[in-house]
Amino acid sequence: MSDWKERARAEVDRIGDQLREVAQELFDNPELKLEETHAAAVLTERARDAGFEVEVGVAGLETAFVASHPEISDGPTVAILAEYDALPEIGHACGHNLIAAGALGAAMAVGAVKKGLPGRLLLMGTPGEEGGGGKVTMVDQGLFEGVDAAMMYHPAPMTIVGHGSLAITEVKIEFHGRPAHASAWPEKGINALDAVIQTFNGLNALREHIKDGARVHGIISNGGAKPNIVPEYASAEFYVRAPETPYRDELLVKLRNCAEGAALATGATLEWSEVGHSYKSIKPNRPLVDAYVANLEALGWSLGAPVDAMGSTDMGDVTQAVPGIHPYLQICAPDIAAHTREFAEASSSERGFDVMLVAAKTLAMTAIDVLTPPALVERMWSSFRET
Ligand SMILES: [Zn+2]
Repeated sequence: MSDWKERARAEVDRIGDQLREVAQELFDNPELKLEETHAAAVLTERARDAGFEVEVGVAGLETAFVASHPEISDGPTVAILAEYDALPEIGHACGHNLIAAGALGAAMAVGAVKKGLPGRLLLMGTPGEEGGGGKVTMVDQGLFEGVDAAMMYHPAPMTIVGHGSLAITEVKIEFHGRPAHASAWPEKGINALDAVIQTFNGLNALREHIKDGARVHGIISNGGAKPNIVPEYASAEFYVRAPETPYRDELLVKLRNCAEGAALATGATLEWSEVGHSYKSIKPNRPLVDAYVANLEALGWSLGAPVDAMGSTDMGDVTQAVPGIHPYLQICAPDIAAHTREFAEASSSERGFDVMLVAAKTLAMTAIDVLTPPALVERMWSSFRET
């Protein structure tokens, strides 16, 4: 192992207690997407103390930040990404407190050995992963321009590196009909609920012909007021997801066709809106994945069996803009799912904290791989362009 890596690892051990404190502090003060003022303050204060130059409120997002290490020279730019938003009611049930502390640790560890290493080192605070699309905004605002490698990790019930994610778009479908007494004058009514049901039926008929791995799932969010009034208004919400962004877009057209067909059949009028943020699918960068795996194995870890389960994340948009990785490290038993109280417990456990330190070390080691000349950066970019 290179001397830089040895020193970075030693630095993580040296600041380990500080990082545990940060992870616990964020866990104890969960904040919802784009409202993470306390977390952003804690992280940027630590980064400033470690000598980073910090800008908070970047990309027009109050809780987004970029912390830049002052040792800058020609060479690659590495960005280590922190997430720190929590979920309603169940707090840090996705372990973003561990992501934040691990990212801070990795940045501080590389920062400690940065003198002598070429290039530029950034710690980027990316808020609102849980539906707020902080990274999408940051990509759109050009914050990743000039970045050669964007890296983060995510705590999980299994260890896998190079896993993809599903591109997602959230859709709201509303139908407007005409009310009428459902028994006396049903012929005067136009039933908006029927249009919603017809949309589901059309979609369900399509399922046989949808590619494996895609997911279209929905709920009826308004189905009318009373059985004796023909529903004049009804609505449904769907998440449309696919392993590849273009196929997600194809599915959106198919779903829209189902809704338009339902409108035609029932006489209701369709209002279609794509709400919230669309996330692209993750494009794992192979050379970066290989480098990360080698570093993980150097610390005695081995990968778990590949799994099919996939969610969606705004890290997808980052990895479609620049080479990136989003490895998962195991912090709990394999049968515990993220977004549960059990996962929240794991996110403040000794095991969770220990894994966070492993993440800090392996991210730092991989950042050093990128910064140390010359081959990896070129291989990363050519692989990025090919896939
Ligand atoms: Zn998450």
